[in-house]
Amino acid sequence: MVNHRGPEFAVMMSDIIEGLKPYFGTRSEPLLLTGSGTGAQEAAVVNMFSPGDTVVSATCGVFGDRFAAIAGAFGADVLRVQGEWGKPISAGALRAALEASDTVHGVLLTHNETSTGVTNDIRVLAGVVRAATPNALILVDGVSSIGALPFAMDEWDVDVAITGSQKAWMSPPGVAVVAVSERGWEAQRQATMPRFYWDFAKAQKNGASRTTPFTPAVGTLHAVHEALRLMTEETPDGVFERHRQIGKQVRAGVQALGLELFADPSAASDTVTAVRAPSGHDASASISGLRKKGIVVASGQDWLKGSIIRIGHMGWVNREDIDAVLDALRAVLAEEKLLQAG
Ligand SMILES: *Cc1c(COP(=O)(O)O)cnc(C)c1O
Repeated sequence: MVNHRGPEFAVMMSDIIEGLKPYFGTRSEPLLLTGSGTGAQEAAVVNMFSPGDTVVSATCGVFGDRFAAIAGAFGADVLRVQGEWGKPISAGALRAALEASDTVHGVLLTHNETSTGVTNDIRVLAGVVRAATPNALILVDGVSSIGALPFAMDEWDVDVAITGSQKAWMSPPGVAVVAVSERGWEAQRQATMPRFYWDFAKAQKNGASRTTPFTPAVGTLHAVHEALRLMTEETPDGVFERHRQIGKQVRAGVQALGLELFADPSAASDTVTAVRAPSGHDASASISGLRKKGIVVASGQDWLKGSIIRIGHMGWVNREDIDAVLDALRAVLAEEKLLQAG
């Protein structure tokens, strides 16, 4: 490892910060934190709010629920807009909840709900928030989207956006990234939820001289540095287009095998595809079948365990990788006598 307070580290940190900006769609300086995506969710909450604040949480799956639970754990008064799993967050339901509440301090949104394979339209949802509650803070969990799907924090007027190194950044876990708007920084100075390790002010102060307040995940940062080099070479538009093509390929491929998508097609994610197990069949058998062929996919979470298969396709993934997944899935379904004729 290099000394994280030395000149090599400072150069790497500068490169990373600059490299991240186009993927967040921001001119602000992203903060590098040490932790996983959940740490970044907690960091976002405790830096923006005070106990007793009203926080509206629009959720349509496990990660949205977690964001809401964190806000509740730190004393926010959480008002849930509960969406149906597999469907995107409803702009109308969000608008109605905002209009029905007195003071809303902030809104928690999930860009890409990894548990169901749904991508929410943050441009539209943030617009609804701004129209109904101009001063509310907009916090977006972009853990499984930023770096793979287009994101325009400044243009969409998002106040805090977060991501994690092990998702689209194709690196080991350990680094969380957050970006904060001007409105967010003002709120940060007023917010009184308890924080120490996650204090954005410390990260910003140190970040200005290209260090971190505490020892960072140096090894993971080396990986993120290299990932960003590859992504810069491909260009952001190239990265987004590849994910769009791969998303389409996966969805068409599983449907051609007679399987159904879990997500509403109008909001199906280009970074993760949730596929329904054939009716009456437990998905875990297919998942272990795939594993024997060297293909690792995920099961459902929470009540979806056993009923869906989730295929991750963010980061270092190309057309041939997806061909291999689909071939293996076809073979497993044939072995299980689940392949539909025709
Ligand atoms: C993975 C993920 C998280 C949680 O991240 P961890 O790194 O597992 O703590 C949060 N939100 C979303 C949308 C995710 O995909």
